[in-house]
Amino acid sequence: MKLYEAQETVFKLLGGIRHPRMATALKLSEEVGEVSKEIVEIEVYGKTERFEKLKEEMSDTLVCLIEMANNYGIDLAREFEKKIAYLTPRAEGWVKDFQEVLNLKRDKLD
Ligand SMILES: [Mg+2]
Repeated sequence: MKLYEAQETVFKLLGGIRHPRMATALKLSEEVGEVSKEIVEIEVYGKTERFEKLKEEMSDTLVCLIEMANNYGIDLAREFEKKIAYLTPRAEGWVKDFQEVLNLKRDKLD
């Protein structure tokens, strides 16, 4: 599914409900917290069976983000393209500057 299609789908699903924008923002924070909780369950407590729940919470987060973008009339695909254009020339430097240390950290922590 393309990003604009996801925005249209969420609009069709939730557009008639008209959550207040502030409620959508708070719900997004709640969903991000739920993602964090599942990561703690998996990474700290070793509950790998929670991976399906993690995927569900990430999807909840995406729906909330899309609803928020819809509420503000933001074209997420266009904004994403602008962000990637901004990040692309910088990413090469990040790889050069941080790849080695981050690989060591991942080997140690993951
Ligand atoms: Mg959730």
